[in-house]
Formats: sequence, C-alpha cells, structure tokens
Amino acid sequence: MGARLSLSRLTAPLQENVRRVLQLGRAVALVWSASPGWTLANAALIALKAGLPLVFLYVLKLLIDSLAQNYFGGGTPAADVNERVVVLVGIAAGIALLQSLAVAAGRLITDTQAQVITDHVASLLHKKSIEVDLEYYEQPKYHDTLHRAQQQATYRPRRIVDRLLDVAQNGLSLAVMGAVLVSFHWAILPVLALASVPGVLLRMRHSAQYYDWERRATAEERLASYYNEVLNSVGHAKDIRLFGLGPLFRERFVALRKKLRQQRTRLVWSRASGDFIGDGIAVAGMFAVFAAMVHSVTTGTITVGSLVMYFTALQRAWSHVGAMLHSTSELYEDNLFLGELYEFLDLEPRVLEPDSPLPVPAPIRAGVAVENVSFRYPNSGRLVLSNVSLRIRPGEHIALVGHNGSGKTTLAKLLCRLYDVSEGAITLDGTDIRRFRIRDYRDQLGVLVQDYPHYQQSARENVWFGNTALSLTDPRIDAAARASGADAVFARLKSGYDSMLGNRFRDGEELSGGQWQKVALARIFVRDCPILILDEPTSALDPDAEEEVLARFRQLAQGRTTILISHRLSAVKDVDTIYVMEQGRVAESGAHADLIRRGGLYARLFELQAKNYRV
Ligand code: ADP
Repeated sequence: MGARLSLSRLTAPLQENVRRVLQLGRAVALVWSASPGWTLANAALIALKAGLPLVFLYVLKLLIDSLAQNYFGGGTPAADVNERVVVLVGIAAGIALLQSLAVAAGRLITDTQAQVITDHVASLLHKKSIEVDLEYYEQPKYHDTLHRAQQQATYRPRRIVDRLLDVAQNGLSLAVMGAVLVSFHWAILPVLALASVPGVLLRMRHSAQYYDWERRATAEERLASYYNEVLNSVGHAKDIRLFGLGPLFRERFVALRKKLRQQRTRLVWSRASGDFIGDGIAVAGMFAVFAAMVHSVTTGTITVGSLVMYFTALQRAWSHVGAMLHSTSELYEDNLFLGELYEFLDLEPRVLEPDSPLPVPAPIRAGVAVENVSFRYPNSGRLVLSNVSLRIRPGEHIALVGHNGSGKTTLAKLLCRLYDVSEGAITLDGTDIRRFRIRDYRDQLGVLVQDYPHYQQSARENVWFGNTALSLTDPRIDAAARASGADAVFARLKSGYDSMLGNRFRDGEELSGGQWQKVALARIFVRDCPILILDEPTSALDPDAEEEVLARFRQLAQGRTTILISHRLSAVKDVDTIYVMEQGRVAESGAHADLIRRGGLYARLFELQAKNYRV
C-alpha cells in the first residue's frame, strides 16, 4: 500500500507533464486550423532562417582559409585570389541581407498570423458562449473561467504562437549547428548535453515553482484586480464617494500588490542565481570543447578557418539551447491559460436537441402542461421545485405568485427550456417540449426576463432584436413601439428611432428604468408568438408606470397564453388562475375571488399588501 502510494507520488508529476505536453499539441492544432497558410509560410521561413547561418559559416570558413593560405603563408598569392575573396565577401553580404529579409518577413507573417489566431479563438469562444447552458453563467466558478478565457484570448494565442515558433526555430537551428559540430568530433554533442543538464534541471525546477506560485496567487491577483475595478468603475463611483471608501480600497490594493510583488521578486532572484550556476557549468563545458578545437589547429588537424567556423557554431548552438529553455519555461505559464480555454471549449450542453424533432403545433390546441415536475439545479442537491403541476389552456392568463425564493423564476426558466426538468415533464399539446427543436420551441415564446439587457444599439434595433426575421424597416417594429409606449420615448430622442441608446458609446442617449422597460416590452410585442412570459415586469417601476405597463401588456395579451410572475398581488388579481408557490410547491390555486374566499396564504398576503398600500 505504502509502496503504491509513493509510486503514484512519483508518477503523478510525470503524468501532469505529459498532459501539459499533449495540451501543447492541441495548441499547435489550434494554430494550424486557424491559419494553415500562414503556418506553412512560417515553417518555410524557419527552415530558411535555420539554414542560412550554415551557409554563412561555410562561406566564412572558405574566406578565412583562402586568406590564411594566400596572405599569411609568406608565398605569392595566386592570380585569381583577390577575385575569389571579393566573391566570397559578396556572398556573405548577400546571406546577411537575406537573413535580415527573413527576419522582417518573419515579423510580418507572425504578426498577421497572431491576429488571425486571436480572432479565431475569439470566434470559438463566442460560439461556445452562446451554445453552453444558462447553468454555466449562473455559477460563479464557471463564470470566472469564462471571464479569464475571454480576457486572455486577446493576447495569449499570440504568445503561444511566438513561443512555439521560438522553440521550433531554435530546435532546428540547434540541429543544424549540431550537425556542423559533429563533423569536428562526435563527442562534442554528448559533452555539451551533459554540461547543460544542471542548467536544464535548475530551470525546470524554477518553472515548476513559478507555475505553482501562479496558481496559488491567482486568487489574490483576482482580488487585487477587483479592488482596481472598485476604484475605477462607473458602477462604484457614486458609492465610493458617498461612503468615502476610496482610501480604504486603495490601501487594500497597495498592500496586496506589495505582497504579490515581493513573492514574485523572491522567485526572480532564485531564478537568476539558478541561471548563473547552470550557465557557469555550461560555459565550462563549452570552453573545454574550444580548447580541444584550438589543440587541433596546433596539430594541423583543422585549419584556422575551420576553427572559426566550429567555434561560431558552438556559440550559436549554445545560444539556441538558452533560447529554447526560455521559450519552454514561458510556455508553462501559457499552459495555465490553455487549460482554462480548453475546459471551456470542451463543455457539453446538457439541454440537448432531440434526435428526431417534431414540428411545433400551430395553432396550439390543448395548451401548456407542467406535469409532476421536480427540479434541482445541477451541482446542487436541493429540490427547488417538487411535484409541481399546472395546466394552461391556449389564451388563458395565469400568474405565479409567492415569496422570494419560492421557485417562480425557476419554473419560468424550465418553461423556456433554459434548464431541463429533473423529474416529470413539460408538454405543449401533449408533446414533451424536449421533442421540439430548441429554436422552434423558443420561437413560440415572448419572454421579458427580470434582468433584461439594455442593448447599446440603435432604438430601432432594440425593438427589432425581438424578431430579426423582419426587415429593419418593417412597419411592425413601429407598431410594437407604439403599443408598448416606446414610440413616445424615441420621439423625444435627438435622432428618433436611429438614436443610439445607452451611454456607453458616442452620441448614445441614456434612458430611465421605466423607459428601458417600455423598449424591452416592445421587443416582445414585435414577436409573433402565442405564449408570453413576464417575470416581475414592474418591480423597478413607480405605481403609475407599473399601471401603464400592465395596461399595455393586457392589450397585447388578448388571445395569447400568458404567464405573469409578480410579487405585487394587485398586478395579478385579474388573471384567470393564480398559482401560489410556497417552497417549491403549488400551495393553492384559483381565481382571485376564490382564493380570497378560501382565506389561505394568498388571502393573508393580499390583505398584508393592501394594508401597506392604504398607509
Ligand atoms: P423566486 O423567483 O420565487 O424568487 P427562484 O426560482 O429564483 O425563486 O429561486 C428558487 C430557489 O432556487 C432559491 O432558493 C434560489 O436560491 C435557488 N436558485 C435560484 N437560481 C439558482 C441557481 N442558478 N443555482 C442554484 N440555485 C438557484
């Protein structure tokens, strides 16, 4: 047992490293799939950049040898030697020029490729962002991952491309220089490899330490960026001033950054000393090889030109080893990001399309039925709805009322198929809604959610988003805006329906809560759908505005099935059936008058609210 344990302790880091290396393979695949053409161009350029120094070294050797033979030997130079020297210098200059060209072209290609990849990753993220379940957004753990993946998508892929190119380029150049060195003596490579082992080990140890520290520090770094956000963001500006919280959050930010900075500096110091020791050993190895080369010149085994060539190759090989180590350790850090990106990209939705979808009934004849539905949120053991049943005939108006947390919004989410029920079923004309294509089913619904968005787009588009199948100039958009009251709001804006709404962009005009509400209402008015769901549509409104919204809604609701969620009982008393929710169950149901007569929970709540209104 003990032996097994220690074995797994030994193999676990190995497995982790294998996983990271495989993860890099996925990065290469990502780079390739985003930009195969640019990748090939880059590969060709790398080969060129690795090959040119080889040719250069050889020309250098020829040049030095012919100079040594003809000018230092004491004899008369051969007739054509000047011409030969000029040609060799010319070739060397040409190679150097070609190298500069390759560097410039490399920059161009890498930059363009990085942009292509950045946009590709952003597009992958966006595709996944709209594909994943709502669950993903409602869990802070996942939300952080998404947030980081999205934030870093702008620069990490570029870094990964750069590092991978570095590793490839230096690896190839190293191989080329290695081949040159082997032609001097086979033992050079093993000697150099041995001499660089301590450096490699020290660097790996540092990379692991740094990686671990990064993981541990992530939470505190996020906290620091939260303080930064509190100090800088519009959302906090008022509160920070009114409560005088600025200095407090500044102090917290400064203290946390100081702590992180000190930890990082300690790591950088330990790396610098490790690098020095590793480099020292490698330099000793390198000069041992150099001594052997010099000795060969003295015994006449190689020429002076060859010595220059071999020593330059030795130096270059050494610098390629250093660069490769550097890039590899930087890739460690990028791995952190890759892990989060892949975790997000690999998410599978749980709310699935059916294998063989059925057509959605039109018109609806029997209505919507919630049949013995129980529900718990994924990753939570608690039953939020238990055994809920209700039936809504076509054209019927119902309301869900009850205390906060009694499960009303959750039931609405199930009706919209944002989650699937844990037990029981929701049916439309007797068919389980999981049998319809999700898009087809949702097209039957006009839903105004509690936290509807304020699209920072034009007024007309804000309504049109409700039904993008229409053309942007369709008169139904104007009609919906008139019906919801948004038309009067737009009429007062500088450019009418073409005005940009919200204050995020230039020339945008901010609306009040009540005005935004009318715009959101217009968005569902423009939908041509048989079922309407309104979740607390009036919670942010004053009583006048509430009455107006409800009156307009009642008009639209005629002939349609409607589900109204509200904690203001005065808003719902005219509906056909009221369902009173209590701790995830339907406690009672019936028309307002029946429920009052019954004297149960509803009657008590109604009396309480009515008393408050009278005061
Ligand atoms: P209501 O709309 O009646 O105020 P909700 O349906 O929003 O009630 O919430 C019902 C219960 O479900 C509450 O206890 C709430 O804490 C829980 N809940 C709501 N959303 C989630 C979620 N995304 N994950 C886990 N629990 C949730």
